[in-house]
Amino acid sequence: SMIPDYLDQVLHDVASNTSGELADYIPELAVAEPERSGAVFATVDGRVYGAGDIDTEFTIQSISKPFAYALALDDSGFDTVLAKVGVEPSGEAFNEISLERGTGRPRNPMINAGAITTHALVGAGLLPPDERVDRVVRGLSAFAGRPLTVDAAVCASEMDNAHRNLAIAHMLRSYGILDEDPRAVVDGYVKQCSVLVTARDLAMMAATLANRGINPLTGDRVVADSVVRQVLSVMATCGMYDAAGDWATQVGIPAKSGVAGGLIGALPGQIGIATFSPRLDSHGNSVRGVALFERFSSDMGLHVMEVP
Ligand code: GLU
Repeated sequence: SMIPDYLDQVLHDVASNTSGELADYIPELAVAEPERSGAVFATVDGRVYGAGDIDTEFTIQSISKPFAYALALDDSGFDTVLAKVGVEPSGEAFNEISLERGTGRPRNPMINAGAITTHALVGAGLLPPDERVDRVVRGLSAFAGRPLTVDAAVCASEMDNAHRNLAIAHMLRSYGILDEDPRAVVDGYVKQCSVLVTARDLAMMAATLANRGINPLTGDRVVADSVVRQVLSVMATCGMYDAAGDWATQVGIPAKSGVAGGLIGALPGQIGIATFSPRLDSHGNSVRGVALFERFSSDMGLHVMEVP
């Protein structure tokens, strides 16, 4: 059909771009194959179109953040979550030690401070750390529509080098934003980041957001409509690290990127889109992923601020 041909063509067009670097602050990510690229569209009525490396597994990394935020909102309720994690774009890098003056509240759930806190809010504070990780992995699996697993090597590699996230968690503990052992929360958060996905999985996860929280293939409701609105709003304002403003104007699709090279976008009522290509720009976003989304947005008029 036409769509895979189009995707093949666009992948071919961006293939000459070899700029950017693999993430190397997690040693296991530095051994990824840099030339891999794939793109998938998943519609809200369950059609899936893809081209390139769409079944290659890689770790979800920060793309887990909006989904864990959704689970936290569903489990703990809006008031409890908002009391601990704000929704203001920080315009800062993902790993900034950025807490609101006075309260210590992280500015939003897409930077690490907010994501570590969000992880702790899954399960409404009722689950011990390992069961909370199970709840997160099962929740991410429900978004994807198939059982997902944790990459133990990437997880161990990140945990060995997690000093910055541990420092952030200790800060959160000192402000009372976290009220449990900071190391256990970071350990769970790193497992969350180490969940293995493919571009196909990510497109289904995004399509579940686009479809009001119901997975288009399994028909399962994963989270409430009101949760999806909240999550997509935060993705639109904070999803692309410190390039969120550029993205909002150039691409205009609620999105989230991760340092393993994944990138998702979700258009409410229409489609979930995912791309995979491991080389990253200076903000930590996939170089080819950004280029692909720029093409999709302009070729198909997907910018949410444009009249279709
Ligand atoms: N596990 C990563 C970290 O917290 C996630 C980074 C990312 O994808 O932005 O450092």
